Amino acid sequence: MRAKASISQSALTHNLSVVKQLTSGAKVVSMIKANAYGHHLDYIHPLIDGSDMLAVSELLEAEKLRAITKRPILLLSGVYSEAELQQAIELNCHIVVHHASQITIINNTHKSVSIWLKIDTGMHRLGLSTNEYKECLPLLKDNPLVKVACVMSHFACADEIGHPMNKAQLNNFKELTTKTNNRSMANSAAILSQAETAFDFVRPGIMLYGASPFNTPNNQLKPVMTLSAPILSIKTLQAGESVGYGATWIADKDITLAVVGIGYGDGYPRHAKNGTPVLINGILCPLIGRVSMDLICVDISSTKASIGDNAVLWGDEQLRVEVVANNSDTISYELLTGLSNRVSFTSVP
Ligand SMILES: *Cc1c(COP(=O)(O)O)cnc(C)c1O
Repeated sequence: MRAKASISQSALTHNLSVVKQLTSGAKVVSMIKANAYGHHLDYIHPLIDGSDMLAVSELLEAEKLRAITKRPILLLSGVYSEAELQQAIELNCHIVVHHASQITIINNTHKSVSIWLKIDTGMHRLGLSTNEYKECLPLLKDNPLVKVACVMSHFACADEIGHPMNKAQLNNFKELTTKTNNRSMANSAAILSQAETAFDFVRPGIMLYGASPFNTPNNQLKPVMTLSAPILSIKTLQAGESVGYGATWIADKDITLAVVGIGYGDGYPRHAKNGTPVLINGILCPLIGRVSMDLICVDISSTKASIGDNAVLWGDEQLRVEVVANNSDTISYELLTGLSNRVSFTSVP
């Protein structure tokens, strides 16, 4: 009896349709990096089939994705050697060029290649500087083997609505790309809050998986992953008795305690605070004591449960992953991508 993640196909379809409604006309590049934000490539076919393009962070991910689909793949990290360029071309990837050193590699290509130029408009992570961008354009235009398919940039603060960086980056991007046909800027937060950033290609990630980039649940989106684990033991605890490592939680009255078979060894966050909700038979019950590697303890005094009943850790309309993230000082992205291979995955309609 172990932890299970079930991946809802209809929720994926629904969330993708929300993206399309919000960005009518733009092509959708679905972010499939990090094994589809932890949802596993094998269980996300509605996304693979319904998107115009799929993006992964590196070549190994591109290889795995290419094994299951013929859709266009965008390689976000780009290539770092001629050998990687060859491999990316063989995998039929569109290649992001975010650093001046990559322009040389691309320009030496012997086969035709489609690239996405990434400009740094203010995030100062990956991306060509304004000058590098302007200087490389004529070089690339002269090369008949290189096709600049799109120009992209990435927001640093899109999840903070009204942050001055958003407008600054957008203006910067617009100024640099006035003559460009294919442009891409929007991640989930921008799709949900800045319609004017949709341009030609949008790049949704987290919202496809049903979580909000703002870390406050968005009821338009449907949770895709439901993480559950069985109750392994039930006992009564008397006032004054403690629970778990460090004896950090002490009962102030008699309670019924359930021990659930999931812990940080599965990817449940060790920093989840006392009181983090766990859904048991339709009732939200508080986590008590420290999260251990294989087990957590839950106060189930307010519900009826038996050994073998399933506890939902996240992914129900009643208990979204954002709530658990907020209770663990992290973001839904980290929780979703962090499940270990001890968790078994299944697909549900
Ligand atoms: C991951 C990623 C996205 C998607 O971000 P979300 O916040 O998950 O929507 C978009 N663009 C780039 C370049 C990314 O790396």
